[in-house]
Amino acid sequence: MDIKVPRGTQDILPSDSGKWQIVEELIRETCSLFQYKEIRTPIFEHTELFTRSVGDTTDIVQKEMYTFQDRGDRSLTLRPEGTASTVRAYVEHKMFGYADQPVKLYYMGPMFRYERQQAGRYRQFVQFGIEAIGSADPAIDAEVISLAMSVYQKAGLKNLKLVINSLGDTESRVAHKEALVNHFEPHIKEFCTDCQNRLQKNPLRILDCKVDRNNPLMASAPSLADFLNDESATYFEKVKEYLTILNIPFVVDPNLVRGLDYYNHTAFEIMSTAEGLGAITTLAGGGRYNGLVEELGGPESPGIGFAMSIERLLLALEAEDNNWATLSMLDVYVISMGEAAKKKAVELTNVFRQNNITSEMDYLDRKIKTQMKSADRMKAKFVLIIGDDELEKESVMLKNLSNGEQQLIPLNKLVEQVKNSITAWVEEEK
Ligand code: ATP
Ligand code: MG
Repeated sequence: MDIKVPRGTQDILPSDSGKWQIVEELIRETCSLFQYKEIRTPIFEHTELFTRSVGDTTDIVQKEMYTFQDRGDRSLTLRPEGTASTVRAYVEHKMFGYADQPVKLYYMGPMFRYERQQAGRYRQFVQFGIEAIGSADPAIDAEVISLAMSVYQKAGLKNLKLVINSLGDTESRVAHKEALVNHFEPHIKEFCTDCQNRLQKNPLRILDCKVDRNNPLMASAPSLADFLNDESATYFEKVKEYLTILNIPFVVDPNLVRGLDYYNHTAFEIMSTAEGLGAITTLAGGGRYNGLVEELGGPESPGIGFAMSIERLLLALEAEDNNWATLSMLDVYVISMGEAAKKKAVELTNVFRQNNITSEMDYLDRKIKTQMKSADRMKAKFVLIIGDDELEKESVMLKNLSNGEQQLIPLNKLVEQVKNSITAWVEEEK
């Protein structure tokens, strides 16, 4: 059979899924610390949800969506991002009426975009994102950014750069938009057809164009920073103040424009500065979207959020040479030789599992030496050796695979002593 995975998708093999689980776990823990609750929405939605919210001048809507007609002739789309669905659910389930505001949500799951495959860019990827809806307090902007930074730091990333900008409110953007049109219009023929279309609809998006990024008119374009009205400028100042209180270093980049239409005020990206990461260095992006809930039929409810892919987080960890290889997921490998010992092995492996001690044993009747090799490959913390001698003494031998130390453990104290040894092992490895 020569059927392979579709282009842009990948199998996550058992040798890697452990890393995924660790990252997913630390994400869930962090969300719980910050009190964001999980929401799970469908993998596909009505196409209109994305054209309306993400915006029909964006790359996502124009080129990247997996859209299909179902058998009932509805146009459906595999979700390319999580904010639209989350906000749809917020409106549909009237979360604006919840007693506790803002509503703080997170999601984690596969997203789909028809993109050119490269390292860090896939057609199916897993995004984790959060949304805080119902507050226009700059302190929550800082909280959202701080949650993203926490996840990366807990995962062990060191070379991080936070870039922020303000896209201003509607009034500021209208003034800026006019200046942009005046700036680009006389030379628009030099730009790609996408940019020509963007000129009247959404000229801000020209600044985010990947084709024309080196055109000198990009660098000389009027900066939004000069068009922020007082309210927007004050808001931005406060976000920066709160980030400083939270000890989060940042860089302001007036050219940071996010790809989606619904952003205003705070926009941010988190990059990795690790060498060897390749062309793609943006790990996460987010921002404020004060008009989106209304756009999707709800009452005015300001929101802010971000999204990151687990794939890029793992790539960044790899680029920083994080040593996942030393991670041990197996506490005890039970080694036995002979009929009686084998029976004991089955029994003890089960006893371990019932006591929350991860354990494995041999099912191929291999020699002790080969079982030992297996334990090594699985990165077991300990092996438990059951032999006739030991059985006679009602005891077993526990060997620490990091330092080679052995101890004879009486069977009636087995669980207690193995648990103590595991605790000591973990302490030692820290
Ligand atoms: P880019 O400029 O890299 O295309 P984007 O602006 O399309 O990014 P967003 O839509 O803001 O990205 O998505 C937020 C995050 O989701 C990105 O920072 C990245 O971590 C991740 N992401 C987006 N597209 C992909 C993809 N095709 N493969 C893997 N991760 C992705
Ligand atoms: Mg993209």
